[in-house]
Amino acid sequence: MLIRLLLLAATTLSAQPTAREVIDRIRAQVGVPWTEPTVDTIKAGDPETPITGIATTMMATHDVLQRAAAAGLNLIITHEPTFYSHLEGTDVLAKEQDPVWAAKEKFIREHKLVVWRFHDYWHRRRPDGILQGMVTALGWTKYQNAATPALFTVPETSVETLAGRIRQTMKIRVLRVVGGQNLKVTKLALLPGASGAVAHRRLLQRDDVEALVIGEVPEWETIEYVLDASAQGKRKALILMGHVPSEQAGMENCAAWLKTFLQDVKVSFVPTAEPFWMPK
Ligand SMILES: [Zn+2]
Repeated sequence: MLIRLLLLAATTLSAQPTAREVIDRIRAQVGVPWTEPTVDTIKAGDPETPITGIATTMMATHDVLQRAAAAGLNLIITHEPTFYSHLEGTDVLAKEQDPVWAAKEKFIREHKLVVWRFHDYWHRRRPDGILQGMVTALGWTKYQNAATPALFTVPETSVETLAGRIRQTMKIRVLRVVGGQNLKVTKLALLPGASGAVAHRRLLQRDDVEALVIGEVPEWETIEYVLDASAQGKRKALILMGHVPSEQAGMENCAAWLKTFLQDVKVSFVPTAEPFWMPK
C-alpha cells in the first residue's frame, strides 16, 4: 500500500511540469521565432518550480496574485508589468528601498509563485492574440478590415452611442471620450493598450479613421491632437477605454489558446480589476 502511495505521489509530482518547461512549450507554439531583447521574461520566482496551475491575467497586481494563489495557480502569465515600469527595475528607483515592491516580492516568494510576462509575443502572433480577443469581445469581427485588422467599418452611429456601447459591453466604470460630441461615424480604428501617440496619430491622419479607440495615452499627446482636430472642424474622436479594459479580453483569449496544447496543467483566466472608480 505504502509503495503504491509513493508511486502515486511520484507520478503526480513528475506529471507537474516546471515553469521553465511550460514557458518553453508556449514559446514553441507561438509561431514567431523568439529573439532578444524582449520583455517576455520571468519577473519573479524560481523557473524550476513545479506548476500546479496557470493564471493568465492583464496585470499581475497584488490582488491578482492573491486570487491566483488562493486558487492554487502558481504560474502567473501577465501581459503587463509586475513591478511598475515596462523594463521592471532596470530603469527605475531601486527596489530595495520600496516597501510596496518588497511586500509584493515577499508574497510571491512565500507562495512559491512564478510570474512570467507574455507581452511582445502574444502581440506578434498572427492574428495578434490581444486584438483577436478584444474584437471578439466587442462583437466587431464582422466589421473588421481583412487587410488592416485595426480598422473597422460599422453601421452609422453617434460617437456617444458607440462609446456607451463599448462601456456597457466591456463593463467599464471609467471610460473617457475626447471630441466628436455631435459626430456620427462609421469608420473606426482600435489600438488596445498604450501603443503610443505616433501610432495613434498615424491612424488619425487617415481619412478612413473617424473614431480611434485606445487604452490610454498621456493627456498632452493624442488627446491634445484630437482636441485640435475637433477645433479645426475635422471629423475625429478618441475613446479611451483605460489600459486594462482595452486588452483584458486578449488575456482571456490567451487562456483559451493555452488550453489547446497544455492539457496536463489547469489553466484559468484571472481578471485584473479596473483600477479607476468614480465618486458618486
Ligand atoms: Zn498589449
